Amino acid sequence: MAIEIDLDACVGCGTCESLCPSTFQIQDDKSYVIGDGSDCDLEEVINSCPTNAISVSD
Ligand code: SF4
Repeated sequence: MAIEIDLDACVGCGTCESLCPSTFQIQDDKSYVIGDGSDCDLEEVINSCPTNAISVSD
C-alpha cells in the first residue's frame, strides 16, 4: 500500500498532520508522507483533506 499526496492540490492546511503526525508532516506548506499510516485512521484523514489531495494505492 502506498500513500500519495497530490502536491499541486495540497494547500498545506495541516489537517492530515494533526490527525496523524506519525505519517504526515508539513514542510514548506506542503504535506509529505513520513510513515506508513499503520497507526492512523487513514480513511478519516483522506476524508478530512479539504482538497482531496490524499490517496492510497495498493
Ligand atoms: S489535509 Fe490535504 S490539503 Fe491539508 S495539508 Fe494534508 S494533504 Fe494538504
